Amino acid sequence: MMTKKLTILLSMFTLFAFLTSTSAFAHEMYFTGSGSSVTEIKLRWTPKNSSTGRLKILINKQSLTGTWATYFEDARTAWHSSAVPGEFTTTTTTPAPNTYMATTTQQYWDTMYPDGPFTETLGVTDLYDTNGSAINSYATASASTKQLKGANIYLNPSPNSASAFTYRFTMSHELGHVLALGHSHLPQYKPANPNTDPSIMSYDYYALGLSYLPQNHEVREVKEMYGYQ
Ligand SMILES: [Zn+2]
Repeated sequence: MMTKKLTILLSMFTLFAFLTSTSAFAHEMYFTGSGSSVTEIKLRWTPKNSSTGRLKILINKQSLTGTWATYFEDARTAWHSSAVPGEFTTTTTTPAPNTYMATTTQQYWDTMYPDGPFTETLGVTDLYDTNGSAINSYATASASTKQLKGANIYLNPSPNSASAFTYRFTMSHELGHVLALGHSHLPQYKPANPNTDPSIMSYDYYALGLSYLPQNHEVREVKEMYGYQ
């Protein structure tokens, strides 16, 4: 039986998928160079909310369909139940949202992210700097203030694999990107071994089908990135 291989894609990573490095990086989002000369650009949200002491992401989810909206709640609960010092709050007016989530139209998705013979794209996350510019390459990251102001998550309106696990994992994974986590299966990140170092930011771990809950890998990285150690 042919097993359908699924892809959860952050768009810019396709540009850098073939870089190789043995350097040990955390989950920084943007890299240039190769081998020992790989350099990174760190992108961050304002580290702490002054009142709660936690990183706070304000999400407008009005453009999610019912299915994705349901699984967003599962993913949000999963993140909040982990030891990650961040929170995802839904809002439409005040305080103003900094992150927007949308289930796209079928036409948009088919045009932007057409299925391959054994792959489909389930979700995409774009990040924006404090000037409101999209950060989608090393060049734009270099020109940025390095401080994040916003994010957009786009979701496939009709995944071929419509299991609850697929939806939940995709949503947890994209929320990880919103926190500025990259793909932990890529060589730049000192790849997480899906068996010994499980990570929802890893395609390899997704393939095991075990859990959509944020793992120790994510907790460790987010704490390190935002100074909660
Ligand atoms: Zn991804």
